[in-house]
Amino acid sequence: SPRVRFAPSPTGYLHLGGLRTALYNYLFAKSRSGTFVLRIEDTDQTRKVEGSVEALVNDLQWAGIECNEGPGINGQYGPYVQSERLNIYQDHIQKLLDNGSAYKCFCTERRLNILRRDAVKSQRIPKYDNRCRRLSPEEIKQKMDAGVPYCIRFKLTSDCQYFEDLIFGSIAYDVSLNEGDPVLMKSDGFPTYHFANVVDDHLMAITHVLRGVEWQISTTKHLLIYRAFGWKPPQFGHMPLIVNADGTKLSKRQSDVKVEDYRTNGIFPLALVNYITLSGGGFEHVPGAGVRLKTMDELAGEFQIEKISSHPSRLNPDLLEECNRLEIKRRLKDEDQAKSLVSKLQALITKTYPEHNLNLTEEHVKTVLKWSASRISKIEELTSKKYGFLWILPKNTAKVDQELLRKLVENLERLEKFDQGTLKESLRSFSAKNDVKFPALMKMLRSVISGLDEGPGVAEMMDLLGKSQSLERIKAVVR
Ligand code: GLU
Repeated sequence: SPRVRFAPSPTGYLHLGGLRTALYNYLFAKSRSGTFVLRIEDTDQTRKVEGSVEALVNDLQWAGIECNEGPGINGQYGPYVQSERLNIYQDHIQKLLDNGSAYKCFCTERRLNILRRDAVKSQRIPKYDNRCRRLSPEEIKQKMDAGVPYCIRFKLTSDCQYFEDLIFGSIAYDVSLNEGDPVLMKSDGFPTYHFANVVDDHLMAITHVLRGVEWQISTTKHLLIYRAFGWKPPQFGHMPLIVNADGTKLSKRQSDVKVEDYRTNGIFPLALVNYITLSGGGFEHVPGAGVRLKTMDELAGEFQIEKISSHPSRLNPDLLEECNRLEIKRRLKDEDQAKSLVSKLQALITKTYPEHNLNLTEEHVKTVLKWSASRISKIEELTSKKYGFLWILPKNTAKVDQELLRKLVENLERLEKFDQGTLKESLRSFSAKNDVKFPALMKMLRSVISGLDEGPGVAEMMDLLGKSQSLERIKAVVR
């Protein structure tokens, strides 16, 4: 059964693209009873951001993506953090030095800069000229004895490497055309991404590498490294770029790609996950079927890697709202989840109206949630002014006919049922009997009930608020 991995570098927060990579690896594993490995690629210590591994693990957990192996999780292929595997890379680089696939390079930073500058000046592709390949054993010994710092480079052969990308189809590329011999080990004893990545994918028995398309250009280089070791490479699939709805590039700095921001802005994990799959593909497309929210199990059951398109995935933010709305509805159907939605909303409202003495009964909050499920896409929206009437006694601004409202209270008090239908009927007959135009009565009542000029129907609001709260509001202006 397949083994896949998500191999982030802890250089900051998890963004949408990273979440997609993790998700598709997870779904791939889950759909084939495989194993999903989390590996932390922290060999570039200068780019490491404190706390980002914890944040990442937290984001994955929130999204419902469970790792079978990884840091802090049992697994027989550990350690799963590259900076804890330095001795492994040392052992392996020795193998490549021994079989002549790699060599020590003593070129100084200064020389490399000159090479680069000259190339740019004469409009050539800047690449290392592979000079240290030709050092004699004596020269190498002499430099070593003198303690000259060195890195270890891979001897690129100039042949075209070919592979069948699971998503893009045939890819062929001769790395040596555009690159000099790549560094595998830096002078500080840390491996480069390319080297550590290949060694670990092999040692961790990874069968399928699914990653972003920005790495596709590196894959042929990786294949050469696999060959130098005599290892069988895994299969590769690269996922297309994620772009904005208009096709423009997403910037990582845009806060709307940060997974944590979705979470703190009231997006539910299953909604975000479905949103990603709606833009990213990987599923049978049924034209005109509308959006249906799928559970993780359903997603895994229906996932087909060959259905991922190689075209850039366009994000459609409307779909995210739709998914979140559907997720709220889904949660309301489950007793425990509904309870936690209720307490979330209770807390939000209490925070929004700190100076009010609120009476947020579970029953009222739940009624409101059910009612609002087709109007809002985030629970947070219920804290806006527009919905203030649901929680606090509004300020009435309209002129009221005290006499009329007093009569109305008497009338409403007698009602046994207080649902929309009953209310509508009774308000209509009240206006007829009292010789007041229905729209005028509604306008007055709307302001008294909600402080709003427009919004949901008056009977609808009264139904939501319930009998005692509605009457209390009317009485408050006739006193
Ligand atoms: N560490 C790389 C990253 O941050 C992993 C690329 C790969 O999956 O090979 O994206």
